[in-house]
Parts: sequence; C-alpha cells; structure tokens
Amino acid sequence: MSATIIDGKDLSLALKDEMKVQIAQLEAKYGRKPCLSVIIVGEDPASQSYVRGKIKAAAYVGMDSRLIELPASVSQDELLSLIRDLNADGGVDGILVQLPLPKHIDSNLVIEAIAPAKDVDGFHPVNVANLWLGLDCMVPCTPKGVMKMLERAGIEVAGKTAVVVGRSNIVGKPVAKLLLDANATVILAHSRTKDLKAMTLQADILVAATGAIGLIKGDMVKPGAAVIDVGIGRGADGKLHGDVDFESACERAAYITPVPGGVGPMTITMLMANTIECFIKRMHAC
Ligand code: NAD
Repeated sequence: MSATIIDGKDLSLALKDEMKVQIAQLEAKYGRKPCLSVIIVGEDPASQSYVRGKIKAAAYVGMDSRLIELPASVSQDELLSLIRDLNADGGVDGILVQLPLPKHIDSNLVIEAIAPAKDVDGFHPVNVANLWLGLDCMVPCTPKGVMKMLERAGIEVAGKTAVVVGRSNIVGKPVAKLLLDANATVILAHSRTKDLKAMTLQADILVAATGAIGLIKGDMVKPGAAVIDVGIGRGADGKLHGDVDFESACERAAYITPVPGGVGPMTITMLMANTIECFIKRMHAC
C-alpha cells in the first residue's frame, strides 16, 4: 500500500483563499477587517521566523495585523500593561504573544493577561477549561489544524480508535479532546507508555506529537491508518523531520501527512481562522 499524502501546504492555501473571500465579505458588512496583534520579545531567530510567517499569512488573507517587537530586556510589567491596552483596544480582535519568552517573564501570567475573547492561541485557562467542558472556546491552532486535515481528507472519525502520542498542553491533550468530541475512542500515549507499539497498532487514526524524530516506524502503523505527524525536529542531516518514519509508514498507512509541509502550515492557517472567529464573535457581541 502506498499512502495518500495529505498536503498541508495545498490545503492551507485553499483554506486561506476561502478566508480571503470571507474577510472581504466581513469588511463589507462591518466596515473593517479582522486585526491580529502579534507581540514578539527578543530576537530568537526561530521565533522571528514563526512571527514573519504569521504576519505574511495575515497579509495573504487580507486581514490587518500589528507586529509589536519588544527588546528582550522589556519588563514583565511593561508587557502586561501592553496586553491590557490591546485587550481594551476595539480595533484589535486577536492577541498572540510568541513563546518562549525570556526567563524573567512568567509565561503563565502573560497568557492569563490576554482577554479570553482575543486569545487566538487558545492557551488562556478559561479557553482550556471551556474546551474540556465542551463549551464555546478558542481552540488551539495545531490541534484545530489536525482536525481540519482529517475533515478535508474525508476521514471519518466517529467510532474509530485514535491514538495520540504526546500529552502536552498545546498539542497532545487538546488533540485527544477534539478527537473524543468527534466520537473517536481515544488512547493518549506518552513517554511512560509501556508498549507504545501495541497502542499504535490499534490506531485507525494515529497522531504523533512528541518531537522524537522517527519514533513511529512503519511496523507500528496499523494497515489502512490515517497518520498525522505533528512533530518537527532537525535531524543529523540538518533537515526537518517528523515523529514518523515517513518512508516505512507510507507502506502501511492509507493517509499520511509529510514533514515539512503537513501540520505546520495548517497551524498558521488556523491562527487566521481563530482571528476571524474572534472578530465575528466580537461583532455579534456589540
Ligand atoms: P512537548 O515536549 O511539550 O511534549 C512532548 C510529548 O511527547 C510529551 O508528552 C512526552 O511524554 C511525549 N514523548 C516524548 N518522547 C516520547 C517517546 N519516545 N515516546 C512516547 N512519547 C514521547 O512537545 P509539544 O510542544 O507537544 O510538541 C511536540 C512536537 O510537535 C515537537 O516536535 C514540536 O516541535 C512539534 N510541534 C509542531 C507544531 C506544528 O505546527 N507542526 C506545533 C506545535 C508543536
């Protein structure tokens, strides 16, 4: 069997083109476009590259964006005060603070300072709680992207066994909850799982989100499974790789996402979707 590749780049482009049309309609209706505010602290090259990608995507879909670049020496109080200003700013719909932050700043305090209604990352405790309670919330971008890939590839989730490998707050746990909401039977595996292969072999849908390059070999994939690889790591060859050994997994999976060009582009695209969602909710609340 040779797997069908779910191309995250192509899918992202198609979704962003749909958003372009939606934003033009929203502007015609409400007199302004959604606006995303992105704060970056310091000069970490990886963070700068992620932020550039987000601003570029905002421009592509035709939304407004504000990039706020702060020196690494900015104080926690200054950052919190800036967030409070953005919370109160009627022209800002989404606020994203690029992580990680310098050590002298408490990331939890910063996340908690963002108004839940403008929390496009879906990291605020109110949004996390609402996700787990099944209430209206902002869903974190990467998990939302994973679900969108399954949906657009026409992969039925209800009644399937889904195995998520990795239990972080930003990927593994929320993906598991979204799969559960979509009526999958979910196994959440992690670094202390005893026999990972025995778990993954049960997966009709396998989501790998560990950062352990090539952890999932082809013989760990159930024939006919849909394999979604969230992991990104730089290998000894200097190239980007996922958690899944792509070549061998392709022999058994029915669907697979590549790295790069899989879940990565979807994450940024879902950030755009979340900003639009915040905008619409705010407009309806007015
Ligand atoms: P994390 O380090 O917070 O969590 C990793 C999880 O994987 C942990 O729960 C750990 O128990 C589990 N794990 C680690 N090694 C394991 C092993 N050998 N066997 C089983 N489980 C193991 O990481 P994270 O923030 O959730 O990110 C995971 C990966 O996804 C990273 O490679 C990260 O770069 C990538 N990521 C990609 C995107 C994207 O947009 N594509 C977004 C976020 C994270």
